[in-house]
Amino acid sequence: MERSSVSEKLFKVLVIGDIEVGKTSIVMRYVKKCFDQAYKATIGVDFFMKTVEWDAKTVVRMQLWDLSGQDRIKNLSRVYYKAAMGALVVFDITNSLTLKSATEWKQDLDSKLCLDNGRPVPAVLLANKCDLMKTKGEDLVSSLDRFCKDNNFLGWFETSAKENINIDEAGSFLVKQMMLCD
Ligand code: GDP
Repeated sequence: MERSSVSEKLFKVLVIGDIEVGKTSIVMRYVKKCFDQAYKATIGVDFFMKTVEWDAKTVVRMQLWDLSGQDRIKNLSRVYYKAAMGALVVFDITNSLTLKSATEWKQDLDSKLCLDNGRPVPAVLLANKCDLMKTKGEDLVSSLDRFCKDNNFLGWFETSAKENINIDEAGSFLVKQMMLCD
């Protein structure tokens, strides 16, 4: 196929959530296909590029903003949010306080950023560290479904950066939603 017939899309994606929930690990797993217990991002913002061959005609590049160094306050500068097209909001499935925080992260995001048509940017909730959960009850599923409705998330995935569970699936779901909004 001729190169010129392939179109490229660039999406800025924010990865937000409380400290230690696994944001950096998720980004590393998604982009570099590895999990490193010892990896620690420098303080600040790290950028990683994930390229996805979406279809025969479209290459999607996701610029992932790992805001791990910024997350002591759930109130990020608008500079970080600017022009983002999507967000992954991460919590630790073994720590309910981090789910509560996800509400605040989402509110902060929506208060500072929206699409040109005024709608919230597509956001997906990631229930990370699911490898540490022995069982997944019906209760969890229905409460996260409810949580997503109440907080305007398009959906949720239980993920494990450690065991490589659902990271690609969550990424593809978000790309699909961003393509619909584009
Ligand atoms: P961040 O502060 O949100 O970027 O979190 P990190 O990616 O630095 O992860 C915090 C800690 O949780 C580290 O010790 C990781 O090794 C661990 N961690 C991250 N993801 C997972 C996971 O899916 N499962 C388990 N068991 N541990 C994880």
